[in-house]
Amino acid sequence: MTLASLLQRADDLYRDLRFSAVRDWKQRTGGLAVGYMPVYVPREVLHAMGILPVGVMGAGDDLEIIRGDAFYQSYICHLPRSTIELGLNGALDCLDGLLFPATCDVIRNLSGMWMMQFPGKYVHYLDVPQDFAPEVGGAFYRHELEQIAGALGKRGGKPLTAAALRRSIAAYNENRALVDGLYELRQREPWKVPTAELYLLLRAGCVLPVEEHSAMLRDYTTAVRAADDRRPMDQARVLLAGSFCEQPPLGLIRTLERAGCYIVDDDFVQIHRWIRGPVRADGEDPLQDLANAYLFQGIPSAIRYIDQQVKGKDLVDRVQQSGAEGVIFCAPSFCDPALLDQPMAVTAVERAGIPWTAFKYAENTGQFQVIREQAGTFADSIKLWSE
Ligand code: SF4
Repeated sequence: MTLASLLQRADDLYRDLRFSAVRDWKQRTGGLAVGYMPVYVPREVLHAMGILPVGVMGAGDDLEIIRGDAFYQSYICHLPRSTIELGLNGALDCLDGLLFPATCDVIRNLSGMWMMQFPGKYVHYLDVPQDFAPEVGGAFYRHELEQIAGALGKRGGKPLTAAALRRSIAAYNENRALVDGLYELRQREPWKVPTAELYLLLRAGCVLPVEEHSAMLRDYTTAVRAADDRRPMDQARVLLAGSFCEQPPLGLIRTLERAGCYIVDDDFVQIHRWIRGPVRADGEDPLQDLANAYLFQGIPSAIRYIDQQVKGKDLVDRVQQSGAEGVIFCAPSFCDPALLDQPMAVTAVERAGIPWTAFKYAENTGQFQVIREQAGTFADSIKLWSE
């Protein structure tokens, strides 16, 4: 597959609001497909049971919201409206269930609405622990995983075995390593891996089986490493923070790149990077290994209690690690977790002398001129006055 056709495939998957790839997979395999909302769910458990995990990231800027607005107040983010719209217009009828991880009240309310609107579908509110002691949060989380496996087993999923789960953990370890490899390549040579392309690849991983997605990542990596027509430009290196749940429209990412920014780290489609490093894949008890990974390898995030650590420290570390010259706080409008964290993160980056700017978006934002001017000015100021 050429680089152009690979990117075209990723773009088609991104724009396909009928989830045709999922429908095709179900027809081919006869398996169940279970969706998940951002940010993190243990896809390994679903995969080990022969179930296709499907990331539901809203509808971007391609869908007119007709009924979804009636479910939420005007001061709520856009993601749940488009998700409801996709549900009511039948786009998500290929999903046999939907997992709602505990990110915020909006998602919790959405899980209740889903139960009422789609009574035949499996719905689980994945109440992730905020206590990271193995005997407390670990035991609780393991129980959650067992509940999901038990319920999906009754709906036609294969029984969850340790051997199958080990294989699934290994498959996702490989996938995470490939994603990490692309993030590293982009940090070193951002002109080789434009973020708009990387983003499309991350989104493809929401609907493709993990093995197919890994093959796509490998092909892309090989192609861009070999590409000699991608040359460095005089751009400012920035880290984009805050876009971990509702995703920005693709046009916004392109706008930032065209405004003179190399995005060298970001929070997009965070499920691919929520767990740092590989999960143990050869243990006696792989379900416990998965639970331990959640406890001890999860990234610091606005939706995760960080106890003794200092808010914003991880962001400063990431800036230094990625060689970013500035931070753009780019969060969805009305996103409580992102926007409540932001003042503490700003304090940390200011203390570290890192330039920053901020704006908000909705997934269906259509006008980028103001953002382009702001990001362009920010990039210019970094190039002119930064040390
Ligand atoms: S965008 Fe923010 S407020 Fe909206 S559902 Fe996601 S975490 Fe919650």
